[in-house]
Amino acid sequence: LEAKEEFTHKTLAMDVMRPRRNDPPLTVLTQDGLKVEDVETLISETTYSGFPVVVSRESQRLVGFVLKRDLVISIENARKRQDGIVSSSDIYFTEHIPPQPPSSPATLKLRKVMDLSPFTVTDHTAMEIVVDIFRKLGLRQCLVTHNGRLLGIITKKDILKHMAQVVNQDPDSILFN
Ligand code: ADP
Repeated sequence: LEAKEEFTHKTLAMDVMRPRRNDPPLTVLTQDGLKVEDVETLISETTYSGFPVVVSRESQRLVGFVLKRDLVISIENARKRQDGIVSSSDIYFTEHIPPQPPSSPATLKLRKVMDLSPFTVTDHTAMEIVVDIFRKLGLRQCLVTHNGRLLGIITKKDILKHMAQVVNQDPDSILFN
């Protein structure tokens, strides 16, 4: 069974991506303006494997992608080993960090743990092409944009589920074996 045959030309990235039309918006991090406690709350209240990082909520301009696992490890390590890292410490994914007032807590720099060029497609990209890219590059997820603004995410599982719906068949047998 060839995976490509399962998608008609009409299936686009926007048909498979999350969030769906009436879902809550994508859970993102901003490159600055978040505190350690904000990110810890987000980590404990969501089950996603990762988070896109954007310039700002207003712009939804993509900066990178960070795996939850790497966030957890970095924050744990910093709290243990880095002087002055507390719940109210600011987190920065930016390259440059503005000068801090003398009394403020230490800042936590997390640019290193971010993937700076996560794979992206536009919402109008044919799923046939998206699937091809997933297989060739061994992707776990891919981000979806429209006019440069971040719109959604497609995981490998999202694709498998979609294909299973289409052909009503065991998802694992179709795509990545
Ligand atoms: P998987 O699809 O392998 O279970 P995740 O646990 O990361 O991977 O994602 C679960 C579902 O949530 C998927 O449908 C995915 O598209 C969606 N998703 C992943 N990351 C986010 C996010 N940051 N915000 C909103 N939805 C997300």
